[in-house]
Amino acid sequence: MEIDSQLEDSFDPSVYPDLLPIYYKRLFPFSLYHKWLRYNDDKLFINREFSFTLKDDVYLRYQSFKDGEDMKKEVIQKCPHKIDIGAVYSCRPSDQRTASNFHPLEKELVFDIDMTDYDEVRTCCSGADICKKCWPFMTVALKILDRALREDFGFNHLLWVYSGRRGIHCWVCDKEARELSPAARSAIVEYLSVIKGGEYKAKKVHLPETLHPSLKQADKIISKYFEDLMLNKQDFLATQDNCEKIIAMCLDQNGKEFLKSSFKDSKSSQEKWETTNQIDDVAMQKGAKNRSKHFLTEVKFQLCYPRLDINVTKGLNHLLKAPFCVHPKTGRVCVPIDVKTVDSFDPFSVPTISSLCKEIDEYDASLKEVNKPEDIMDEGEKSIATKIEDYNKTSMRTSIEIFRKFVKNLG
Ligand SMILES: [Zn+2]
Repeated sequence: MEIDSQLEDSFDPSVYPDLLPIYYKRLFPFSLYHKWLRYNDDKLFINREFSFTLKDDVYLRYQSFKDGEDMKKEVIQKCPHKIDIGAVYSCRPSDQRTASNFHPLEKELVFDIDMTDYDEVRTCCSGADICKKCWPFMTVALKILDRALREDFGFNHLLWVYSGRRGIHCWVCDKEARELSPAARSAIVEYLSVIKGGEYKAKKVHLPETLHPSLKQADKIISKYFEDLMLNKQDFLATQDNCEKIIAMCLDQNGKEFLKSSFKDSKSSQEKWETTNQIDDVAMQKGAKNRSKHFLTEVKFQLCYPRLDINVTKGLNHLLKAPFCVHPKTGRVCVPIDVKTVDSFDPFSVPTISSLCKEIDEYDASLKEVNKPEDIMDEGEKSIATKIEDYNKTSMRTSIEIFRKFVKNLG
């Protein structure tokens, strides 16, 4: 709890309505957005649905725009607290009332991973709260999905985005991904889902005798993080309750007894986990009833494998929050995440709308100090002072660069 306050206390939500128009006017990357969602074909942008959530939760669906300038004009005028992106439709979404046979044609393949789905495996916070001890769950999820989407499916154009508060989104933008049918999307998300069963199911991961190569790769990634995340940061086996959870995952009676006794004697989470390594040799020998060949891997998967919101991925007309929106409660920008540096991505250092506006002001003020007043500048000096894009004056610069590179790679 104390740590969630870090995420929100640094931001005063009452300034949000005043700063939002400045953010949209000076920082939101409309022209890059247009370039992205146009995919070299104007009608893909024109027929795209956006939805706006205005203040007081007034919800406007089926907004659509001619181009980036048109979008900018509308966004500045309506000043939505949240923008969502929907599908590309058979005609302009703003004409949907009068159009016949209005239906969605395509959309990026999207994934939504939300920390609230990790409540049963994290010990530090719950609900909408996050902290530095549980954020690495998102890092692991990103790495596993990014690898699978690229290597197992051959997708190249993945945009990972911080959701502004407690999770991450992935936009798979390859043409082949955008044109997938709902059935194919379901098949992909099923393939990527390993944790199955609701709150009251003790054992949610059942791995077959022979591990699929994709699961072997996921296991490698989880194993790299497991000790630091589950044993150090989460100290998961410190409580009897959590030890019981692991014991309940073991269906073999000898194995259960073994875990019970080894958890009793040892002290730290590390020591407890180390003793489990012998479960295959001591307790669950070959041929033992209900023996799971990969019991320890199943445990690691149940604790660390990505938990996906399946419905977000399945539906063609499901809306997802647009990158570069600003979260009204935390004030944080939904910035893209660079996969190469995801290990050092820190949600607590993502710029807030107030820090960004302050940075612009400070930069402009410093220019005035250093430079002569505008009326006595020569042409060269003037062009330097006016040509600097506002985002370049702020810590949003790196986020825009990640986005620009992604858009450029689309070709
Ligand atoms: Zn936490």
